[in-house]
Amino acid sequence: MTAAPTLPGTVTVRVPAKVNLQLKVGQRRADGYHDLATVFQAVSLHDQVSVARWDAWEVVPSGTYAAGIPTDEGNLAVRAAKLVAERCHIDESLSIRIDKDIPIAGGMAGGSADAAATLLACDQLWGLGLDRDEMASMAAELGSDVTFPLHGGTAMASGRGEQIAPVLARGTFYWVFAVSDQGLSTPAVYAECDRLRERSGERVPSPEIDAELMGALRQGDAVALGRALHNDLEPAAFSLRPELKELRDAGVDFGALGGMVSGSGPTVAFLTASHEAALDLSVSLAAADVAGDLRRAKGPVHGAHVVTGSRD
Ligand code: ATP
Repeated sequence: MTAAPTLPGTVTVRVPAKVNLQLKVGQRRADGYHDLATVFQAVSLHDQVSVARWDAWEVVPSGTYAAGIPTDEGNLAVRAAKLVAERCHIDESLSIRIDKDIPIAGGMAGGSADAAATLLACDQLWGLGLDRDEMASMAAELGSDVTFPLHGGTAMASGRGEQIAPVLARGTFYWVFAVSDQGLSTPAVYAECDRLRERSGERVPSPEIDAELMGALRQGDAVALGRALHNDLEPAAFSLRPELKELRDAGVDFGALGGMVSGSGPTVAFLTASHEAALDLSVSLAAADVAGDLRRAKGPVHGAHVVTGSRD
């Protein structure tokens, strides 16, 4: 049986998607991971995760992308809740409602965002008072992209992506995201990146964020930011999905300040000069019939935060 929409004591957390302004990928390490240097920006596409005590574990999907949400143990929100329960010796099961507005498998870290939201929601529901370090340690255990949505804003990440430092960014940036209806697997994109690099024999430098990007953020200069957008995984995403390159090129021809594949794709992110320019670009891309779903968002926005609910 599925829990009622709002069970007593429900805690709801709102959590943003991310875009990588730069994603630099180092050489594949012996453990199979890659060292990364990236700058994340949290953008105004949000999921809402609600947790409530229930007599069995369950996931209740809703929202724009409800159909793609796994409802089994593989859901990162369930893994996050179970990790908190295990660490804090709590023997209760939860109903977890996920209202999904972040595209699934789109390189916008929606699953990781839900995991981060669930950590915060469980902390509140169970009245645990977890500190920053405890949250960060659980986030890192769940996945390298789970830490950032707890912070939000604009931040630099290194290591596997879990070591986060805030970055000074002035102003608001306006984005258009062209969402594909067919996801791209993150491991497949990294494998393709390794394959392309091996074939070309290119030397892979250790990953570092460009000074131009940091300067553009400091100045709130959208034109300079557009020029500085960069993703080392883009050639791999283009190789697996050549139509993404056409889409990126079309967006830039239509006047975007910059465009690139977001994370491991297949979402293509376009930076524009203003809210109006984002609207214009969406209209042009829709008319040219080169993109699937088009979503507009602004960034930076706040990280995961409780919107309703308190401990009963
Ligand atoms: P990233 O940018 O971190 O690589 P992504 O945005 O490409 O992530 P997600 O939306 O996080 O991709 O989903 C990747 C896969 O994770 C999905 O195909 C899905 O099977 C699984 N998954 C597990 N939990 C969730 C969740 N809560 N929401 C969406 N997908 C989830």
